[in-house]
Amino acid sequence: MITDEDVVVCPVCEHEQTITICPSVNVTTDPEMREKVLSGEIFEFTCDKCGFSGYAGYPFVYEDKETNGGFLIYLEPDCEDREVGIEGDIADQVIYHERPMRLVPDMNSLKDKIFIFEAGLDDRVVELFKVLTLAKMQDDDPEKIPDELKFTKRAEINGEDMLLFAAFRNEELLGTLEMPYSLYQTCVLSGEPIWDVPVTECAAIDQQWVMERLGEEKETEE
Ligand SMILES: [Zn+2]
Repeated sequence: MITDEDVVVCPVCEHEQTITICPSVNVTTDPEMREKVLSGEIFEFTCDKCGFSGYAGYPFVYEDKETNGGFLIYLEPDCEDREVGIEGDIADQVIYHERPMRLVPDMNSLKDKIFIFEAGLDDRVVELFKVLTLAKMQDDDPEKIPDELKFTKRAEINGEDMLLFAAFRNEELLGTLEMPYSLYQTCVLSGEPIWDVPVTECAAIDQQWVMERLGEEKETEE
């Protein structure tokens, strides 16, 4: 496990302190780290001065070299870029030509990607799935419409193959949304031409990515 040091500022009392951080995790060699990432424990810090406990945001690499061929996710808090190159030690260690490398801006998105790849799904298809699902809900009660879906797991419910999502509205959890896996397969077909475009670098694959690709498709058709 690689560790480093970083300075955090307490959001309550503004006290500055140096903490030990873990800028990268390889769950293939350190499997126990997976749970610490998912629970957020790895990002936790406690203020020396006022005792406040919270999450420290710093660039972080999550690597799984085995599950479904392996994947890498780079968390850069509040990152505005749509893709980044991975540099330094990590770049030397990892060569991800055929495996997904993804850029995410927050912890919920990091978990979303981990669960998607662990379930053996294609995250680009899942993002299209989210866009279409949210669009279909526009006619429902406006108070109850989520504005964000995060994948949690694939499970059999009453004999049916389902995909489960955590539904958020204004960053607050509304509940769990269950959707049939068959709709995912429909998305694989309906999004067909956009899957052929290669994803280079470490890219942000989210709803914006899907919308941009769908827009390009329309332009070529016209
Ligand atoms: Zn404090």
